[in-house]
Amino acid sequence: MTVASGSGGSLRERAEAAGTSFILALFVDLAGKPCAKLVPVSAVDALATEGVGFAGYAVGAIGQQPSDPDLMAIPDPASFTPIPFIKDGLALVHCDPHVDGVPWPFAPRVILRALLARAAAQGLSLNVGAEVEYFLVTRDAGGRPQPADPADVAARPCYDARGLTRMFDHLAAVSTGMNALGWGNYANDHEDGNGQFEQNFEYADALTTADRVISARYLISMLAEQRGMTATFMPKPFADRTGNGLHLHMSLWRDGVAGFPGPDDGPADPRGLGLSALAYSFVAGVLEHASALQAVAAPTVNSYKRTNATSTSSGASWSPKVPTYGGNDRTHYVRVPDDQRVELRGGDGSANPYLAIAGALAAGLDGIGRGLDPGDPGKAGERPPLPRTLLHAVEAFERDDVLTGALNAAGPGVAEYFADLKREEFFAWHGAVGEWEIERYLTAF
Ligand code: GLU
Ligand code: MG
Repeated sequence: MTVASGSGGSLRERAEAAGTSFILALFVDLAGKPCAKLVPVSAVDALATEGVGFAGYAVGAIGQQPSDPDLMAIPDPASFTPIPFIKDGLALVHCDPHVDGVPWPFAPRVILRALLARAAAQGLSLNVGAEVEYFLVTRDAGGRPQPADPADVAARPCYDARGLTRMFDHLAAVSTGMNALGWGNYANDHEDGNGQFEQNFEYADALTTADRVISARYLISMLAEQRGMTATFMPKPFADRTGNGLHLHMSLWRDGVAGFPGPDDGPADPRGLGLSALAYSFVAGVLEHASALQAVAAPTVNSYKRTNATSTSSGASWSPKVPTYGGNDRTHYVRVPDDQRVELRGGDGSANPYLAIAGALAAGLDGIGRGLDPGDPGKAGERPPLPRTLLHAVEAFERDDVLTGALNAAGPGVAEYFADLKREEFFAWHGAVGEWEIERYLTAF
């Protein structure tokens, strides 16, 4: 069954073609929380023209006070996504929040649009493929998460055909849903942590992929709940296992022509990666701004337990500690699997995909604008290691005009608001007395 509306058209036409009865008008706050109102298809014309109103302060981190006027979520019909495999007749549509008739600069989708417009002004467009990793868990008697599959205890669980098969019903439901939507799911695997999985879909333009990451998290969560499990995208739910990455495969295009492969008729790339000068400058920009970029690609306290993991029970963390780039080698911050794209491996499952992509694009465009070169593969050079904590990342972010400029791309004050939120998040965690402190200090003195 194909439920994708495919051919385009107005929101009403798409909803009617898909047999939709209800539409989730959806957007996320800066933290990536999916917020929606459920709109019956009888009200689709008003939804399409006026949008649907929200009390912005109640949404979460989106720059509004209780006294502010309504945030109006205006749907983007191209993002219409029928999801009858969640509930019969249900669809979702991604929205651009507006206030007083103008796009709201604190809305992540509005921010990414502004960065894409900046690239377009230079004749460039961005394609992105995202790898969504997650754990399927239940809670034990003490409320701690544990792998939902009690047999998933192997020391080296990655790619285990048996662990994969035991989760077949869930994985197949997600895969079938993705393919019905035309996302092109091409692989599903058991990842390197017990209880951890990844389900891949094809790359698309940056905005579509960011929307799909949000949709995928929602769909995977709902389908897991239907089977009595919780899907978590938390960066590091288990200290001794690999974390949840959100690897972003990025490529710039000019007039529909891939901009990253080196010229066929030019001199061979002496570094052997087959990349163009444009690609090297993009990579150099990403590396130069890596510390600040991590504040949006790895935006939680928990993120820094993934990127700074010293070891895991499987022997590798597969997540970077230093901002290096290299060929087909998964230990780098930026991997170059082939000459078509570069893979940013610093981001994790808590990343807001709109902001992570906007930040990476801003960093890459800065590298291009300044004609930067990343130096030889495999070497960090003068670049500092990645931030050790969220607080370090926030401080690097505040010092970085390119990354703060990215968050302020649609209007001022967003970067400062974001940095304040994230600093407070760090101190809220720091202010709690945890198990580690009790173990270490209770009888130490
Ligand atoms: N789970 C690893 C991470 O946190 C990545 C494993 C992989 O390369 O797929 O980034
Ligand atoms: Mg993976």
